[in-house]
Amino acid sequence: MAKHKFQTEVGQLLHLMTHSLYSNREIFIRELISNANDALDKFNHLKLTSEAFRDEEWSPKITIKLDKDDNSISIIDNGIGMNEQDLIENIGTIAKSGTKAFIEQLTGDAKKDNNLIGQFGVGFYSVFMVAEKVDVISKKAGEENAYKFSSDGSGEFEIEQVVKESHGTVIYAKLKEDASEFLDSWRVKEVVKKYSDHIPYPIFLSYESEEMVGEGDDAKMEKVKKNEQINDAKALWTLPKNEIEDKEYIEFYKTIWHDHEEPLLWLHNKAEGTMEYTTLFYIPKTAPADINRADFKPGVKLYVKRVFITDEEKELIPLYLRFVRGVIDSEDLPLNVSREILQENRILANIKQASIKKILNAIKKLDDEKFSTFIEQYNRLVKEGIYTDYTNRETLLEIVRYKSSKVEGLTSLDDYMKRAGEREGETKKEIFYIIGENENILRNSPLLEAYKKADIEVLIMDDKEVDEIVTPSIGEYKEWKFVDVATVDAPESEDEEEKKQLDEEYAELTKKLKEVLGESVKEVKVTTRLTESPGCVVPDSSDPMAGMAHLFRQMGQEMPQTPLILEINPKHEMISKLSSMDDEKLFEESAWVLYESARMAEGMEPIDKSAFARRISDLLSRSL
Ligand code: ADP
Repeated sequence: MAKHKFQTEVGQLLHLMTHSLYSNREIFIRELISNANDALDKFNHLKLTSEAFRDEEWSPKITIKLDKDDNSISIIDNGIGMNEQDLIENIGTIAKSGTKAFIEQLTGDAKKDNNLIGQFGVGFYSVFMVAEKVDVISKKAGEENAYKFSSDGSGEFEIEQVVKESHGTVIYAKLKEDASEFLDSWRVKEVVKKYSDHIPYPIFLSYESEEMVGEGDDAKMEKVKKNEQINDAKALWTLPKNEIEDKEYIEFYKTIWHDHEEPLLWLHNKAEGTMEYTTLFYIPKTAPADINRADFKPGVKLYVKRVFITDEEKELIPLYLRFVRGVIDSEDLPLNVSREILQENRILANIKQASIKKILNAIKKLDDEKFSTFIEQYNRLVKEGIYTDYTNRETLLEIVRYKSSKVEGLTSLDDYMKRAGEREGETKKEIFYIIGENENILRNSPLLEAYKKADIEVLIMDDKEVDEIVTPSIGEYKEWKFVDVATVDAPESEDEEEKKQLDEEYAELTKKLKEVLGESVKEVKVTTRLTESPGCVVPDSSDPMAGMAHLFRQMGQEMPQTPLILEINPKHEMISKLSSMDDEKLFEESAWVLYESARMAEGMEPIDKSAFARRISDLLSRSL
C-alpha cells in the first residue's frame, strides 16, 4: 500500500467540500455520472478504432448501487478505467488550469463558493460533500492490474493493487451520517431523472426494497433485490425537438458541461439532404474560467452516428467561439476519423460554417437583457472574431458594442451610424474612435474637444490591447470608414489659407518650443482641434513604427517608443502668454510643464517625474 499526499490545491478543495458546502449536495450524483459517461464514451471509441477490443462483448452501462446496511452508495461503470498513474494524476492532482482558477476564485463564503462548483469541473471531488470515505476501484482497459484509491478527504490518499475482473471504475462512497437521504431509491431516482435522463447510456439502480410477498395470512414483508433502469438513455440531441422540454435541454447541459447555471441560449438543429448531421449548441451565461488561456478545454464534442469521437478538438468551431458548448453528430463522417482527417475534412468544414452562421444569428436574436449579458461576457471574443473571421465579419460588426462619447452604456455601430447620419449637414460616412487604456482619461482627452464642440460622436475604445489590433483592421463597415481621432486633423479645421496663416504667426513659438524640448518631441505645431487645453500630444501617423504598434503587441513585445508630436492651441491664454514671454528660464519651465501635462492627459507618464514636480512647485510659488 502506498501513501500519497494530495497536491496542495486538492487539499484546499477537499477541505472546502467536506466543511463548508452543504446546500445542493445532490449534484455529486450528476458529477459522477458525467465522469462515467465520459469513460464509456472513451471505451466505445477505443472499441471502434482498435483491433484489440473489437470483438469484446460489451454493453455499456452505469450502475448506482445503494447499500443501506453498509451506509454506502457506489457508482459503477464499465468504461475505459484508470491505472495507478491515472489515479494519481487525475484524482490526486489538479492538472487542469480550470480547476486551479476555481480555487483562486474561492471567497470563503460558503454560498458563493458552492455556486462555483461544477462550473470548473471539480466534478469528482464533489463526492466529499456527502462521503466520509471514498474508494475508487478501477481497471484500465487492456491492462492486467487493478488499483484502489482511498481517501477520507484529508491531506493524504492511499493506493493499493486489488483484484477486479473487467475494465471500468467503481466509485464507492461511505456516506456521512447526515447524508443518508442518498440511500433512498426514490431520492436517487429523482436526482438522476432531473440531471441525467438523456445521457446516451442506461443507468441502473440496484437496491433492496422491503416488499409484501404472499397472500392472505401468508403475506409477509421481505427484502427484494431490485435492479431497474432509471433513465431514458436516449442522447438528447437525437430526439425530435418538439418532444424535448426546456427543462431537459437545461439539465442535459448542466450534466455534460459541468455548469451550475442555466445556459444563456441553446439551439438544436437537424440538417437533412446532401449532408446529414445534428447540432446542439449552448452558450454559457458566464464565460468559462479558462476562456483566456491557451490551454482552454474545448466545449464542443464530435460524434459520428451517435458514437463519441472526441472532445479535444479545438477547431470544431472557430477559436473566437470557444465559449460555445455542444455536440456535433454527423452521419457522413467515417467512424475512425483521425485528427489529421478532422482538420482537413470538407464535411466538417461545411458543418462548421453552417454552425457559425446559426450561432451568430441566434445571438443577434437574443432579447435585450440576454444580449447585454452576452456582450458583458463575450464582447472581447466578438472583437477577436472581427479580426479573424472575414466571412462573418459583417455579422460580427452588427453584434459588437462600444462605449461612446454621446450615449450612456454601449452602442452598436448601426446606432452610431444612424445618429451620425441624422446630424445636420453630415454627408461623410465616418466612424470616429479613440483608443486607450482608461475610459476616464479617454473621455477627457484633449483630442476630443473639437469633436465635442462640433457635436460629433466618438467611440471610446478602452480595451486597448484588443482594440488597437482589431479596429484598424476593420477599415470599412457598410461603406463607413473607421477614423482614429489621434491620426487625423480635427473636424472643421480652418481652410488651408487660415491654417497657413496660423503656422506663420506661431512659427517662432513652435521653433522655440522644439528647441527646448529637443529630441523628446518629433515636432511642435499649431492645431485647431483644441478648445480648452493649451496642448495635446498625438502619434506621428507618418511614422511607420507607429502603425506597427499592433504587430509588436501580437508578438508579445512592448511597442518601441516613437517621439510624439506636440500640438498647441493658439486660442489658449497660456500659449499667447508663452509667445510673448521674455524670461528665458520661465519659458523653458513652462514649455516642459505644457508638454508633460499633455502626455499625462493621454494617460502617459511624464518623462521626468521629479523634474515635473519641481517645476510645478516653482511655478506655483511664483504665482502665489
Ligand atoms: P473532469 O471530469 O472535469 O475532468 P473530475 O475531477 O471529475 O474532472 O475527474 C478528473 C479525471 O479523472 C477525469 O478527467 C477522468 O480522466 C478521470 N476520471 C474520473 N472519473 C472517472 C471514471 N469513472 N472513469 C475513468 N476516468 C475517470
